[in-house]
Amino acid sequence: MTIDATRATNILSEHYALFTQASNDNGLLPDTKISMDDLRAVAENSQGQFPAEVVEAAQFLLSSTAARSFLDVGAGKGDVDGTISRADIDGALVTIEAGGLEQALLDTAAGRGGADGYVGGIDLQAAQTDPGIPQSLKDALQQLPPDLPLQTQLRTVFALRNHADDPLATEQLTTLTGSQAFQNLDESRQAQVLALFGGTNAVSAAARLDLITGGIDLNSAASLERYLLTEARPVDKWRDAMPTSGVPDAQRMDYTVGGPETIEYDFPSGTQPNTTERLPALRYTVEVDGQSIEVIVPRELDTGTYSYPTVEQIAKGLAAQPSASLEATDRVVVNPATPQETDANGNVVDSGADMYAGGGTIGINPHDTSNPREQRDFDFTFLHETAHLVDQPWQVAGLAIEWNLAVQRDSVFSTHYADDRYVTSGGSTIDPSLAVDPGEDFAETYMIYHLVKGTPDEAQMRALMPERFEILDRMYG
Ligand SMILES: [Zn+2]
Repeated sequence: MTIDATRATNILSEHYALFTQASNDNGLLPDTKISMDDLRAVAENSQGQFPAEVVEAAQFLLSSTAARSFLDVGAGKGDVDGTISRADIDGALVTIEAGGLEQALLDTAAGRGGADGYVGGIDLQAAQTDPGIPQSLKDALQQLPPDLPLQTQLRTVFALRNHADDPLATEQLTTLTGSQAFQNLDESRQAQVLALFGGTNAVSAAARLDLITGGIDLNSAASLERYLLTEARPVDKWRDAMPTSGVPDAQRMDYTVGGPETIEYDFPSGTQPNTTERLPALRYTVEVDGQSIEVIVPRELDTGTYSYPTVEQIAKGLAAQPSASLEATDRVVVNPATPQETDANGNVVDSGADMYAGGGTIGINPHDTSNPREQRDFDFTFLHETAHLVDQPWQVAGLAIEWNLAVQRDSVFSTHYADDRYVTSGGSTIDPSLAVDPGEDFAETYMIYHLVKGTPDEAQMRALMPERFEILDRMYG
């Protein structure tokens, strides 16, 4: 089999230890990375000890600066430095699975810089003679679509190549990128549009359906931009496409459930506004990620009226949370009924919240029996709720200035929920005053960041919300 970048990545992944130990390039220190010396030693195979495909992979990587550099910065961090780590290979495998290989090969084709999504003139030049770049891509680079900035031309080529076997998507993307609406957007908006429509996942499929049915006027940049920024809601599209079973079980941490003990607990009242009611309760203890989290449920459940979560659903949901979320969570309380509160007009109303969080506690209101929750609801909503519990270090003197600025620059609203609560008047535009509370936008972004991190969908969400993802990288990356 001929070696290409994908094959070489898989061979390095399978035979990682063989490569790291091939040369004595780290003296007496532990050697956990693949260096140029390692690749040369395997390629030479002077003792004849390496399998043929391993030798071929090393020879291929020595001949292809593009493929070698792609692996070098596979984890997305730092500049090309001549070493490949396990994290680089794992990151490279995710990029390949996400259909981002060709873009990543070009990004550092000249062997300089990092994985920053910017393809320079020297990269394009180097790509023309690099054996790791497919001939069909070399040909496509000779005929870039005209009348667009270079990075947009390249992103367009990659989007089209990812749909080479999908004539409808190809036609839609050609129409979109050839339209007045698209050409009149600036380069950063064009990048977001291509991330939204040009991917191979459910978000892009749903967005392309909206191209047919969503009332987008491709003669008007304002129309296309309005759809991108306020109507597409890419995180809603992503969530709607996820299985109701939620996060794959392999991604959950190990957990145990202890108890229950019988206690008395002051639940938010089911009948009186803004008060509590002391009731017999069961207290379970979920041990996960070194944390002990209480789960408190009423002993008497009104199952004729309500659907309550099980302790197992809650424990599984906790096991799907990142460490920062678990550290900030002391207990989960299942309310006997939806608490009442007094609204601005003095009327007693349902508190309305599905779940809520504050002071280390996640509160869960029961659903109607006709609308039981799925595991997805716990996995995802716990992420949203714990975002309200974690430290929010971007705050300066109590104001979320940095987050607000990031929202302004990204401009894409992730979900209907975040949008409606971001702007005090009720959604659909971005408040230029920066004066509004972005807590719900942060919660929704925190949720999708942790859900897509390290998956094929990360690149798309990052391209749609680059400024917000950069802040989250700094906090949790
Ligand atoms: Zn919230």
